[in-house]
Amino acid sequence: MSERPGNVFMVVAPSGAGKSTLVKALLDRDESLVLSVSCTTRPPRKGEVDGREYRFISTEQFDKLRQGQALLEWAEVHGNFYGTPLDRIDQATREGHDVLLEIDWQGARQVRQRYPDAIGIFILPPSIEELEHRLKARGQDAPPVIARRLLAAGGEIAHAPECEYVIINQEFSVALAELAQIVSAARLRFSSQAVRHAPLFAQLGIPAAH
Ligand code: 5GP
Repeated sequence: MSERPGNVFMVVAPSGAGKSTLVKALLDRDESLVLSVSCTTRPPRKGEVDGREYRFISTEQFDKLRQGQALLEWAEVHGNFYGTPLDRIDQATREGHDVLLEIDWQGARQVRQRYPDAIGIFILPPSIEELEHRLKARGQDAPPVIARRLLAAGGEIAHAPECEYVIINQEFSVALAELAQIVSAARLRFSSQAVRHAPLFAQLGIPAAH
């Protein structure tokens, strides 16, 4: 059984599936969820703020973090480096907070090595046409970048079977409700409940899970 009362949720999706918007809405309605802010060497997009969406750092800074074992996981995605700082997650889960990571499939695999109970949630677009439409409509990226992301989408989607849960983001409100349900269900897992309510479990004489 995990000694950490906090759950680790990994939300994985191809770009354009609506992952960030869903995650933002979930965080707005669930204050006990902590978002892990990744480091990236990608330049900020319009409207992105350093320290909020990402910590935007240089390749040299990224290499230093990597070499200093300061990253829980890292990967090269669409030609840029992305990584999850380890310290905040370790502390938050130990203190009983649930942490949410927005990462790619390569990162998700690495996270499972340290947190075998991490819960993978894959967000799918309702169709490939809709994915292309969303990538173009958000107007954040230049056409060659969009083309690269569309090509990569197939590669990311091929790893959907590695996640425990799948959400099809057709209707935003439905997808958001489904995401919230997964989080609620995870909080009720025996292992989470046993750690959160240790005195009650002891009083009732409930044995530890095998
Ligand atoms: P974007 O540049 O659109 O924000 O993100 C591109 C991809 O990088 C997305 O699939 C996103 O999930 C992934 N990504 C963002 N942060 C991390 C991270 O810390 N680690 C890994 N492995 N992937 C990340």
